[in-house]
Amino acid sequence: MKRKADCIFCNIVEGTGDASVVYKDDFVTAFMDISPIVEGHTLIVPNYHTSGLTELDAEHGARIMNVATRIANAMPSSELRCEGSNLILANGAVAGQTVFHTHMHVIPRYAGDPFKIQIEAFGRGTPSREQLESQAASLGALLK
Ligand code: 5GP
Ligand code: ZN
Repeated sequence: MKRKADCIFCNIVEGTGDASVVYKDDFVTAFMDISPIVEGHTLIVPNYHTSGLTELDAEHGARIMNVATRIANAMPSSELRCEGSNLILANGAVAGQTVFHTHMHVIPRYAGDPFKIQIEAFGRGTPSREQLESQAASLGALLK
C-alpha cells in the first residue's frame, strides 16, 4: 500500500497516528476530525496515499462515498446532534484543501450549529443554453 512517511493521515491509516477510528476496512479508514467544525465531524480517507483526486481510482472514490453515506445515515441515531449533514471533499489548495491526503468530510448539521456555508456568496451565473451545451459536450467527451 503506497504511503508517505510524513503524512498524518497515512500514519492514522497505519495505526501509528493518534486518532479515534470510526470504521476501517481494506480500502478506507474513517476517523473523528481533531478540530471539528461541528461536533461529530468525521473524515474518510483511502488507505493509500493520494494527495488529490487525480491519483484516486474511481473504485476507491466509490468506497469513500459508500462509507460517507453510511456514516451520515448513522449520525442521527448516534449520541451526536444531527438533523442533516454536509459531505465535502476539498480537491486542491484552491478548493480549501489543507491536508494533502484525499479525504471526505462528513459534517453533522443541526439548526443553529456553528457551520456557516455560503454557497451563494457571489451570486449565480446566468449562462446561455449554448454555453451549457458546449460545457456539457466538452466534459462528456472526456468520460467516453
Ligand atoms: P481540508 O481543509 O484539507 O479539507 O481538511 C483537513 C481536515 O483535517 C481539517 O478539518 C482538520 O481539522 C483535520 N485534521 C488536521 N490534522 C489532523 C489530525 O492530526 N488528526 C485528525 N483527526 N484530523 C486532522
Ligand atoms: Zn497520506
